[in-house]
Amino acid sequence: MQPDRDYLQDVLARLLNTPSPSGMTDAVVHVATSELDSLGIPYELTRRGAIRACLKGRQRMPARAVVAHLDTLGAMVKGYKPNGRLQVVPIGFWSSRFAEGARVTIYSDEGVIHRGTLLPAKASGHTFNAEIDSQPVSWDNIELRIDARTASEAETRALGIHVGDTIAIPSNPEFGPEGFVNARHLDDKAGVAAILAALHAIRESGMKLPVDCFPLFTISEEIGVGASHVLHGDVAELISIDNGTVAEGQYTSEYGVTISMQDSSGPFDWHLTRRLLELCQAEGIEHSRDVFRFYRSDAAAAIEAGNDIRTALVCFGLDASHGHERVHLDSLDALARLLIAYLCSPPLFHRDRAALGPLDDFPPAEMQTPQWDENLPTAPHS
Ligand SMILES: [Zn+2]
Repeated sequence: MQPDRDYLQDVLARLLNTPSPSGMTDAVVHVATSELDSLGIPYELTRRGAIRACLKGRQRMPARAVVAHLDTLGAMVKGYKPNGRLQVVPIGFWSSRFAEGARVTIYSDEGVIHRGTLLPAKASGHTFNAEIDSQPVSWDNIELRIDARTASEAETRALGIHVGDTIAIPSNPEFGPEGFVNARHLDDKAGVAAILAALHAIRESGMKLPVDCFPLFTISEEIGVGASHVLHGDVAELISIDNGTVAEGQYTSEYGVTISMQDSSGPFDWHLTRRLLELCQAEGIEHSRDVFRFYRSDAAAAIEAGNDIRTALVCFGLDASHGHERVHLDSLDALARLLIAYLCSPPLFHRDRAALGPLDDFPPAEMQTPQWDENLPTAPHS
């Protein structure tokens, strides 16, 4: 069973072309639900729009979930400058270095929309000469130049622009002939597209999964909430799909799939992680392992919310994350193939049906720690 690359690209383009900074995600929720509708997969929504879809399996438990987030980075109007331009703050964590020069859209109330450009406060070399290069990179040194006739706070207010209006930074996707996709917000729309491509292939094949699977699409990962509120009590295994960083000192596979062993929230589940590595090997999927230091995913939020579930983080290779991002379609294809193989494989442990249960098929100690105490003088001499 292979993911359909054309479908993956089409759905990725639809997602990227729908602005969805955290806090303004209703439109992208509609895009994702219409994809689920066309795949014939039922779903429910939380009050704010996180999506829980359901693919029925041969048995209900121990159920699985795969999660990716629909929200992206963005910005918000912080205030008015005396020159009529806007002060802005970031939505999510990203450097103003990557905001400089971006063409943006300001969404105000009652359908009022303006376009503009995020600029360094000292933007013209003819006026500021070398100060352009010495000005610190900081959101405090960014201003939004609105494409409207305004030179004062009063004129900007009269345009209908308020403090707190949401600013979307368009994705500007470019699908190149070499298979690279350059765009902002590939984190995590590329992950959403890979999940949908896996679901598309499973539906096309008509195959029944071994256990129920809940594809989850969250709407506030970039601000730290993640998959905490949308989980189903029957879920025993959760796979978070997000970006791996192609960067110096990292081992993320740019053209394959990467299994994260640990992120800021600690190690991922030993057994689930190894199962995913085994599946990569068995299916001949290019893969690597990596550890991330400044990274938090949907899985962390699920655990912190008190869910006792096995979690893993599976990544596509993303260059320059939270900046001028680039992914290769081979990496998304590898990720979708791993998801298909995982969802078609039997559950890890049947005892995981219940939160609490007998020793039963709980893994034997040797799986993690073979001969752990054989020759160590840690026991008293008799
Ligand atoms: Zn992300």
